[in-house]
Amino acid sequence: MEFDIGLGPRRAKPAKEPWNELEGGRVDETQTETAARTNAKLLGRPGNPLRRDQKLSSVGQKGGAVGRQPHPSRGALEERETEVGFELPDLLTERRLGNVKAVGGPSEVQFLGHGDEGIEAPQVRQLTHAQIISISPNSLLHPHERIGQTEAMGKNKPPAKYSAVGLLWRGLRKQSWPRVWREPEFKSTYDVVIIGGGVHGLATAYYLASNHGITNVAVVDKQYLGSGGSGRNTAIVRSNYLTPEGVAFYDRSLDLYNSMSNDLNLNVMFSERGHLTLAHTDSALRTMNWRAEVNKLQGINSSVITPAEIKKLTPSLDVSADTRYPILGALYHPPGGTIRHDAVVWGYARGADAYGVDLHQKTEVLDILVEGGSGPEGKGPGGKVTGVRTSKGDIHAPIVVNCTAGWASQLSNMAGVTLPITTHPLQAAVTEPVKTFLPTVVVSGSLHVYVSQTDRGELVFGASVDPVATYNMGGTLEFTEELAGHVLELMPGISKMRLLRQWAGLCDMTPDYSPVMGPTPVDGFYVDVGWGTYGFKAGPVSGEQMAACVANGTTPELIKPFELSRFTEGTLVGEKGAAAVGH
Ligand SMILES: Cc1cc2nc3c(=O)[nH]c(=O)nc-3n(C[C@H](O)[C@H](O)[C@H](O)COP(=O)(O)OP(=O)(O)OC[C@H]3O[C@@H](n4cnc5c(N)ncnc54)[C@H](O)[C@@H]3O)c2cc1C
Repeated sequence: MEFDIGLGPRRAKPAKEPWNELEGGRVDETQTETAARTNAKLLGRPGNPLRRDQKLSSVGQKGGAVGRQPHPSRGALEERETEVGFELPDLLTERRLGNVKAVGGPSEVQFLGHGDEGIEAPQVRQLTHAQIISISPNSLLHPHERIGQTEAMGKNKPPAKYSAVGLLWRGLRKQSWPRVWREPEFKSTYDVVIIGGGVHGLATAYYLASNHGITNVAVVDKQYLGSGGSGRNTAIVRSNYLTPEGVAFYDRSLDLYNSMSNDLNLNVMFSERGHLTLAHTDSALRTMNWRAEVNKLQGINSSVITPAEIKKLTPSLDVSADTRYPILGALYHPPGGTIRHDAVVWGYARGADAYGVDLHQKTEVLDILVEGGSGPEGKGPGGKVTGVRTSKGDIHAPIVVNCTAGWASQLSNMAGVTLPITTHPLQAAVTEPVKTFLPTVVVSGSLHVYVSQTDRGELVFGASVDPVATYNMGGTLEFTEELAGHVLELMPGISKMRLLRQWAGLCDMTPDYSPVMGPTPVDGFYVDVGWGTYGFKAGPVSGEQMAACVANGTTPELIKPFELSRFTEGTLVGEKGAAAVGH
């Protein structure tokens, strides 16, 4: 008889995972086949009879998002506890203890551990009777996998349903809606502390809970949720990046955005209206063609179109040849568009809260507690994170995730980890509302401007980051003047519109315009930073992948190119050609 007693990551409801789909084409065949072959051998089944989907569910998956069998019932677990036992200290020396399978009887055990590359590497070990003692299945897991499992038992529940029936029911009974998330008690211990209550921190917390059953998690923010870039951005989403790594990554985010309203049961107002990146010079046109080819190779809907086609799509643009910077063409990306940024933040916050994650607002992290490191105060490389010091007291936690975007380098410094990040303000502005006339998102790198129209009719403008590194979030007159001039070169017809307001947020810029994600030289200290001017669109995929990274203790393939180590290894992911103004 064969049974699975592993407490693999669990999810409350199956989400669309492209690498779970047979036709998805994103599964690393080599990895799957190797693992499955070994799996078949260990299970005494020659010829690898497993179907691909069976292989995936039994040996884990690339990307590490969700790869295990659905969690067995508690009853089944207890049954296994009495049947199979291991000597714990011995087992814990295993580099990685993922799923554990009893094969043929309690003394022969298959470990689905991970190799150095994060690939599941099954091993069989014979256990003597002396080794067979009592077992708690939870304790068989690697520390990364053990976190939160106990607390999660029976606690997970999906967020409350918003529905027309619910609305009617409450309306008739004059009942108000419950608070969207709790104001939790401050606890001194958590399994995971996430610093930063923006879309990245909240999405990571949500997917830790929903995909991996890890709910003993705190998200701490020095202000209110969404007070950083997540509540200040211009809400543009797209996946037509320049590098294959970037395209694959942002495309997964668009997938998640597409199903988000359903997944979070909150209308995030995704408006898939098409995204135009204008080219005003030959070299810009060359880059657009380059991007289009990279995009097409990865199945992304993206092509270079002519000025006449641009005019058809967006009549208000001046595509004539007698302007200062004539439009020579554009990269057209129909899946791009805008999403209501606040709704995304609130949706993830509500979802995470419903799973039991504690969201602590007005809780500033003053220090990150590290011991055993090679730097001053035992911080830095070689150290181990033990928690955070906040304005409300210390929190002990074996895992701390830095999701603080504009403040990322400050927070990482607290752990003794230096990041190649500088912080620059990015300004934006909005006009009074007018009748809808701009059907696409329009970006011009050469003119340092982009514009879209909201559902309410306002034009939302942005530009490139201010050239000076600073934490100052004040707006400047220079920005407004330059913006107005450049916008009028594109759309002279809007000269009478009035600007209502302008604002700024902080952007954490990296040398290659790509993020920094994954582990750091301090054990247990993770970063999800370097989001520059483009991190809103990456929120969902970052949350999903960071959650997998934390839960499984290995970096998923999708974010491996963005590890901090690329700056010492010289493997930068140059996205400047697609991210400098593009958002
Ligand atoms: C004007 C503007 C326009 C933009 N437009 C776009 C766009 O169209 N598309 C796009 O994809 N991206 C855009 N971006 C970028 C995007 O907004 C960010 O990259 C993204 O929001 C980063 O999200 P985050 O969750 O990582 O960080 P944030 O949302 O910035 O959250 C970080 C949080 O950390 C908290 N924090 C900081 N220090 C501490 C501390 N010591 N203790 C506790 N908490 C702390 C902050 O209060 C903050 O809430 C834009 C940015 C700006 C400023």
